[in-house]
Amino acid sequence: MLPIERRQQIVTWLNKEGSISITEISKRLNVSEMTVYRDIKPLLEESKIIKTSGGISLAPAPVIGVSAHACTYCLKESNNRHPVQIITNDLRVEQLCCPHCGILRYKDIEKDVSQIICRDFLHNSTISAKMAYFLMDADFQLNCCQPQVLTFESIKHAEQFQKGFGGTVLRFDEAVEEIRKRMKGESGCHCKN
Ligand SMILES: [Zn+2]
Ligand SMILES: [Zn+2]
Repeated sequence: MLPIERRQQIVTWLNKEGSISITEISKRLNVSEMTVYRDIKPLLEESKIIKTSGGISLAPAPVIGVSAHACTYCLKESNNRHPVQIITNDLRVEQLCCPHCGILRYKDIEKDVSQIICRDFLHNSTISAKMAYFLMDADFQLNCCQPQVLTFESIKHAEQFQKGFGGTVLRFDEAVEEIRKRMKGESGCHCKN
């Protein structure tokens, strides 16, 4: 099978089954996991699929960042380059202007959330927020909501950025706790623009 045929096959499976692990794909296609990673790389780069804890799944449509919607949480036009998307269990898609609003909204409707998706700060790749690393208090302004959080796919990049710009690296649950604590139960966010 050509790489393009394998890629089409993977997308067909994802459409039918939701998410599949890399191991499972490599078994079914009878190729190495390295080959699977190479095959899916373009799909990840085009944000057609996303990495999840169980493997990969299709990115929900509309693809994040393509259209400018008002932020579900602070109602500001969410057209910056760090949007967050929440997919609910009944497949509603909510657009949030930045990880700050994404996290606060997540906490509000936690039971209804099926997926929360953000973008890697450096590569702009699409990642599940639950697997991301969050940098708070960095000396770098996104000009969105405060307190601000930057999201990274790898701990290495988060720590490298932290070396240059300071701040604290947190996992998803810690970031949720920390932002909630700092908002002291206030609703809305302190948007600067
Ligand atoms: Zn917002
Ligand atoms: Zn914001």
